[in-house]
Amino acid sequence: MADRVPYIAANWKMHKTVAEAAEFVDALLPRIAATQHDVVICPPYLALGEVVERSRGSAVRVAAQNMHEQESGAFTGEVSAPMLAELDVDAVVLGHSERRRHFGETDEALARKVPAALAAGLEPILCVGESEEARDGGQTDAVLERQLQADLAEVGGAKLAEVVVAYEPIWAIGTGRTATPEQAQQACAFIRDVLRERGAAANSMRILYGGSVKPGNAAELLAQEDIDGALVGGAALDPGDFAAIVEAAG
Ligand code: PEP
Repeated sequence: MADRVPYIAANWKMHKTVAEAAEFVDALLPRIAATQHDVVICPPYLALGEVVERSRGSAVRVAAQNMHEQESGAFTGEVSAPMLAELDVDAVVLGHSERRRHFGETDEALARKVPAALAAGLEPILCVGESEEARDGGQTDAVLERQLQADLAEVGGAKLAEVVVAYEPIWAIGTGRTATPEQAQQACAFIRDVLRERGAAANSMRILYGGSVKPGNAAELLAQEDIDGALVGGAALDPGDFAAIVEAAG
């Protein structure tokens, strides 16, 4: 993990009402009171304000799970970056494979979303990752490179360093099949190389692994040189399990 500050994010997906989100934060905060890590909660839109307010003054930062690329307009059902920033949201997950698969998220849209997030002062957490077929076909690096080049096409130089990248192999998300520490390290190191070639201060950028991270496997994954944190789905729904993963980051 070198000397980068560990970054542990909870992606709740479409789980937790506002009341349940409040309960989670109240249970989590005492458990992570001493942490020096960046701890990020990504609740559904409706719970963002509650999590922001409840976690003020703590290590917890708050991220949305998606946003629209435009600031405003006739886009029924959508939420923009300035709307999130107004709520004191810190970051936004972009390009999660569930959004790519179920909601038609494209690399072209992501190329607009990443700069829109940055312009509003939100830290983009850009998700990239290969399918099982791509891995079996030896295409993992090619998929990662294509996604990174496309999604970050409009972000240059110093701004790139403000992006957090999450390596999320699709076959490991919500399946209980975690990438081995070696597979995850190899992919994260490759991502860092691509970012470096794009002119980023890649050594200072946080690259996360996501895909069935649990208290029992987190320490080994997070001990890898190029894995700076985790994007956690299922195991982040329980405050005790999530706190244990935060602790596993050292
Ligand atoms: C995710 O939602 O990004 C994720 C990695 O989920 P899980 O930890 O459940 O695999």
